[in-house]
Amino acid sequence: MRIVMKFGGTSVANGEKIRHVAELLKQYHGDGNELVAVTSALGGVTDGLLSVANEVSETGKVSHVKEFMADLKEKHYDAINIAIDSDNLRSAAVDAIDSRIDELEKALIGICYLGELTPRSIDYISSYGERLAAPIVSGSIQSFGIGSQAFTGGEAGILTDSHYGNAKPLEHSYDQVYKTLVPLLKDIVPVVTGFIAQDRQGIITTLGRSGSDFSASIIGAAVQADEIWLWKEVHGIMTTDPKIVPEASSIPQISYIEAMELSYFGAKVLHPRTIEPAIKHKIPVRVKNTFEPDFEGTLIVAEQNQIEDVVKAVTLINKVALINICGAGMVGTIGTAARVFSTLANAGVNIIMISQGSSEANMSLVVNEDHLETAVSAIKNEFINNVVGNVAYDRDVCVVAVVGAGMDGIPGVAGKVFNSLGVAGINMIMISQGSSQHNISFVVSSKDAINAIRTLHKQFELDK
Ligand code: ADP
Ligand code: ASP
Ligand code: MG
Repeated sequence: MRIVMKFGGTSVANGEKIRHVAELLKQYHGDGNELVAVTSALGGVTDGLLSVANEVSETGKVSHVKEFMADLKEKHYDAINIAIDSDNLRSAAVDAIDSRIDELEKALIGICYLGELTPRSIDYISSYGERLAAPIVSGSIQSFGIGSQAFTGGEAGILTDSHYGNAKPLEHSYDQVYKTLVPLLKDIVPVVTGFIAQDRQGIITTLGRSGSDFSASIIGAAVQADEIWLWKEVHGIMTTDPKIVPEASSIPQISYIEAMELSYFGAKVLHPRTIEPAIKHKIPVRVKNTFEPDFEGTLIVAEQNQIEDVVKAVTLINKVALINICGAGMVGTIGTAARVFSTLANAGVNIIMISQGSSEANMSLVVNEDHLETAVSAIKNEFINNVVGNVAYDRDVCVVAVVGAGMDGIPGVAGKVFNSLGVAGINMIMISQGSSQHNISFVVSSKDAINAIRTLHKQFELDK
């Protein structure tokens, strides 16, 4: 089989873990598979890069950059020493790391002096997590006696638009990645940086946080892989976040659509766009636990097996805000909703949920907390003195969703949801069900969110 295997930040967190990853690759390679490895940054590195860049753009403290760089260098040197056995391979990895550390330090010092951080420079800085990881993973594979070569996403052929921070792959990438990687697969295991790519001018772009999943799927589609495997620190896609409900269980099989809904509705286990390239080429995706490789994990495929589970999972979106737009002038005024949506789209605000009562006097929207101020002022500007009387908002809310293709056409799911939350004394502030009927989502006060997740997980017997 031809398999693209992506390893998340926890899976490559340090030298021991990278060794373990290289051993896994060796084993699957030995079984006669052609493999491409996609690596994340060492655990915590991307967060560290973003926070140092933000901080020094405000404080201008070069000493802080120096301290940060010393720690970063030590972390990667330690990983090299443990993950790579031969002296030659070690010194090759050290050379690669040294020159990147050098470039990164210069960029961060530049930010200290400039005092500004553009989306383009954020992408450049945050790309170093993966760029430092790939030579180490590749060196470790080689020290297990298997040929390997490290590539950045751009070198492998992933080209994107210039939408920094959330770039989209260009169609051309698929051919390009095929041409770069496929001829190598007979002989070596290429290691490609996840998360990062480049635009037509050769400038580094990123695919959004957790973007390595998406990279793996793009590469999987490009090389016409038989399967795409995403190795993480959990037992696959689970019935809810195991950090919230320890009894959460692994979902053995789930459809593309359900996996997409889950990730859109906050299940942090997958980057929301991961499934798109896989769907297009009908490539099965597996989510597996790096630390328990014999456990099957979750298989994501085209078919939906509807009958078995009505509700497959419960998810939570934090850091959202609710906006309530009301005014007697909205009743029967054609085009109000369209104006609200286009105003928000022009302001770059993404709407997560919408609900409008049939009285039409009120419309509720959920947006990212980061977008709240922009959204409220855009709506106020658009509707000065007419139609809309008042724009109220609430930051102290979360979105909870129950997801499962089996809900389609099965009566009573919503009733069960509402009833069990009622019994638990949880008030729903807003409710929405897409007409696909693959999910019911609702807004609760932040203080009730965890309780809502636990209540619904129990109600639908997801721990069984
Ligand atoms: P990666 O190692 O690939 O970066 P992530 O950290 O992105 O993996 O994803 C795994 C994390 O997602 C887990 O730590 C888990 O707490 C969280 N999570 C949230 N919802 C779910 C879910 N439904 N199933 C599994 N994990 C989930
Ligand atoms: N390193 C990136 C992040 O932390 C991408 C990834 O891990 O998938 O968001
Ligand atoms: Mg992730």
